[in-house]
Amino acid sequence: MHNETPPPEKAPPPPAGFELLPGTSQPEPPVGTLIDKYGRRITYVRLSITDRCDFRCTYCMAEEMTFLPRHEVMSLEECLRVATVFVGLGVNKLRITGGEPLVRKDALWLIERLGALPGLDNLVMTTNGSQLERFAEPLRQAGVKRLNVSLDTLRPERFRAITRIGDIDKVFRGIEAAGTAGFTRTKLNTVMMRGTNDDEFIDLVQFALDRQLDISFIEEMPLGEIYGRERIYISSDEAREILGQRFELIPSTESSGGPARYWTIPGSSSRIGFISPHSHNFCDTCNRVRITAKGELYPCLGQNDASQLLPTLRAHNDDEALRQSIIDSMGIKPYGHDFTRQMTAPQVVRFMSMTGG
Ligand code: SAM
Ligand code: SF4
Repeated sequence: MHNETPPPEKAPPPPAGFELLPGTSQPEPPVGTLIDKYGRRITYVRLSITDRCDFRCTYCMAEEMTFLPRHEVMSLEECLRVATVFVGLGVNKLRITGGEPLVRKDALWLIERLGALPGLDNLVMTTNGSQLERFAEPLRQAGVKRLNVSLDTLRPERFRAITRIGDIDKVFRGIEAAGTAGFTRTKLNTVMMRGTNDDEFIDLVQFALDRQLDISFIEEMPLGEIYGRERIYISSDEAREILGQRFELIPSTESSGGPARYWTIPGSSSRIGFISPHSHNFCDTCNRVRITAKGELYPCLGQNDASQLLPTLRAHNDDEALRQSIIDSMGIKPYGHDFTRQMTAPQVVRFMSMTGG
């Protein structure tokens, strides 16, 4: 039996209190702040440092991917410039993502410099874990505060089917290395797929509890190819019902500054999160933007509007024009995303590996 909250067919209009700021063009925000036209303060940037990956997860990439040519990808120096300007505008949390960030050559060069940026309190990373055995310790030394590791199953053959090429043992060793390096509250990210891993939700939570990890279950988002999405979609409400068969879930008011809503289990410090873009729209508290590896600034994961930062970066040696483009991009941040499940064509045409999850 499901207790499924039907997803909204369209993003709802802004509620009262989210009036457009006066004027059609974006006003200059107070020094050191980045505010969108609905008055939401942007303090969190997700920066994709590569579109490449050593896995090909079925929900994220096509089997045969064409990756960006090198010259279209921001150099690590350009990534640092972008991050530095955002931090100057009051951003205090930066998530390094990808593609798989740890397959980018010399990624540590960038991460060490980001770790030393004054004002950037919270440098975090999302990784598939495949390279963590080697990188956990240097990442910790560089000032990365917390890791999210994607893990949709505990079964090797299933893992291979979902990732097409991944080796689960490497990921297990990576998770262990993160603990040894001193990372705490590492969070597992699990994309929920009916008929693929819904029989493992309980085991995945137990795996997290046994290692004092957090875990977030993510409703699959309709990016890139969409065939079969309706069939495999599972809502967070349904997942909680499944977990309720084994665990007592207590709603928590804690937040990690992201879209997850958390539950706890008595006797454990682990948090069980649910990221529900379909069934519980989280747009009204959105505090983030995403930068792709080619320097596109996406103000919303679920919309196609973007500002192109790379031409500005390459045309100017100083960062004033870049800063202005970032401020101007607040004018295209929509009130909300527009994911629906009943669709005949992809609404968002890029893959998650492009936008950075
Ligand atoms: N390669 C890294 C990893 O897998 O963690 C970082 C990039 S990946 C694009 C970031 C997150 O996006 C992962 O947790 C992945 O499971 C999630 N993701 C990818 N495609 C998705 C989709 N269509 N719906 C929901 N989550 C997705
Ligand atoms: Fe790679 Fe992460 Fe996408 Fe999987 S979800 S293909 S690991 S970028």
